[in-house]
Amino acid sequence: MTFRSPVSEYEFMLKHIVGFEEVAATDLFAEASDDMVTAILTEAGKMCDEVMAPLERPGDLNPAYLENGVVRTSPGFADGWRAIAEGGWLGMSAPQEHGGMGLPMTITSAVNEMMSGACLSLQLAPLMSQGQIEALDHHASDALKELYLPKLISGEWTGTMNLTEPQAGSDVGALSSKAVPNGDGTYAVTGQKIYITWGDNDFAGNVCHLVLARLPDGVPGTKGISLFLVPKFLPDDNGNPGKANSLKVVSLEHKLGLHGSPTCVMQYDGATGWLVGAEHGGMAAMFTMMNNARLGVGGQGVGIAEAAYQKALAYALERKQGKTPSGGIVDHADVRRMLMEMKADLFASRAILLACAQAIDMSTATGEADCKTRAAFLTPIAKAFGTDTGIRVADIGLQVHGGMGFIEETGAAQFCRDVRVTSIYEGTNGIQAMDLVARKMMDGGEMANRLMDEIEELAERARPTHPNMAEAVWQACESLREATDWLVGQGDLQNRFAGAVPYLRAFARVLGGHYHLMAALADKGGPREKLARFYIKRMLPEHVGLLQHAQEGIEGAMALTLDELAS
Ligand SMILES: Cc1cc2nc3c(=O)[nH]c(=O)nc-3n(C[C@H](O)[C@H](O)[C@H](O)COP(=O)(O)OP(=O)(O)OC[C@H]3O[C@@H](n4cnc5c(N)ncnc54)[C@H](O)[C@@H]3O)c2cc1C
Repeated sequence: MTFRSPVSEYEFMLKHIVGFEEVAATDLFAEASDDMVTAILTEAGKMCDEVMAPLERPGDLNPAYLENGVVRTSPGFADGWRAIAEGGWLGMSAPQEHGGMGLPMTITSAVNEMMSGACLSLQLAPLMSQGQIEALDHHASDALKELYLPKLISGEWTGTMNLTEPQAGSDVGALSSKAVPNGDGTYAVTGQKIYITWGDNDFAGNVCHLVLARLPDGVPGTKGISLFLVPKFLPDDNGNPGKANSLKVVSLEHKLGLHGSPTCVMQYDGATGWLVGAEHGGMAAMFTMMNNARLGVGGQGVGIAEAAYQKALAYALERKQGKTPSGGIVDHADVRRMLMEMKADLFASRAILLACAQAIDMSTATGEADCKTRAAFLTPIAKAFGTDTGIRVADIGLQVHGGMGFIEETGAAQFCRDVRVTSIYEGTNGIQAMDLVARKMMDGGEMANRLMDEIEELAERARPTHPNMAEAVWQACESLREATDWLVGQGDLQNRFAGAVPYLRAFARVLGGHYHLMAALADKGGPREKLARFYIKRMLPEHVGLLQHAQEGIEGAMALTLDELAS
């Protein structure tokens, strides 16, 4: 069973679920007509199906390795990279003046999701470059932009992001890498970074690292961090890769999955770098890249969910066990339940992801604060729910395969291994949930309530045709409102944090119900309505337990002493 990019699904989502017509109606994205979007998605889907998907298994079986300090990539990955670059998929949302396509992030998200489903290990490379392109576009000097953006956008050079150090993971502010001014406008960057995705490769002319480090007068914590662009080869006077910079890949990590993606330990020894953004303003600049990557990582979860669903369905249709009308296990009630859960959550997570991307586009196109706040609010939900869905759907997909799921040759196990890290990197899902209940609710829950108003408005509109589904969504939303009020009322943030993960999941569940209801309205009597009924009746009720959990506060979570935990 080979991967097929779900192009027609995106077309439905853009038209009926996420309000893409609003994006296409802006001056900035006026070119994004239905025909153009369909052509782009079709072309990208073809590249994913024909070029990237065949690389997924070879990448798993032949991991990237280090040879004389250079990363050797998995067989076929260099050709895959070239196809991505030549198709223009690196610079989809990048500015046109530097060679990008200037497309809406909604379309980029759909394409990134397809690439993830086709071959996640390779997709990480364009994702890193895209994030770097956006960070440089927003924060770098004109000179840096002119030199680096065209080469990153064309795929001649690649980009990475370097935050993590052995003692500084979630707590980025604990980093100890240093940068000292050289007196000529450049800086000498020294330190060790770990887990650097695509920290090197053997197919690009240069590898450009965005590195967080502290200037001599940088205060401790995140406020004293600056961002530097540190290329593997220093560009010569003509902008071509020249002298090797003082940096190296020390080793590659041996990982549970994503074997085709080299995860590097990097050493910088007084490497020459250029400041990006203001001195001590590194986190603001890096956040541009991280927000982009968070949405991208949410899309990785959705992409793997799509691939896992396709594989599980194909197996369920073909495998015969017991007496069923078709002879296939697909007719067993429990197998059908699994497939329905996979499909229903796939839809919900994709809708949330695209709705978040749509809000980013509206914010970019209109500059309206409301759109920006909406995008910021939806980002942690899109990241955490997208990746949790990827992990859960891949796991159910393995179960559908029975014993064969545990055998590597089916590929069902690879999905589980590859997707598992998505809830960890780009800010763990716990950190995403804390962001949602703290920073994203500094407005006293205003944005959350605005979203809930929209959910209830739609439920009211759906009452005449879909009374039961509408009532269930409306009620769930009311419960979410009560829980939100409770959370916002907790001055002690620990009370919010203890229930942040179940709260985020409940929010996603309710949003999922909202989008499923929308799909039911667009497809009365059709399969989408049936799927919506399944989700709303059987999966939405999960919100009850989650919200109860979310409102229990810190006390019970800390009830056992450390000795009691260990006993
Ligand atoms: C395959 C892979 C690729 C990666 N790629 C990159 C990359 O390209 N660039 C890069 O810079 N980094 C990268 N990372 C690093 C990744 O972003 C970190 O692993 C992640 O941020 C978590 O940090 P940590 O591993 O140190 O875990 P820790 O921070 O030690 O967290 C351990 C646990 O404690 C929890 N925790 C930590 N702090 C808090 C808190 N304040 N409140 C509540 N819970 C908390 C976490 O949620 C987690 O469950 C990659 C990691 C992997 C595995």
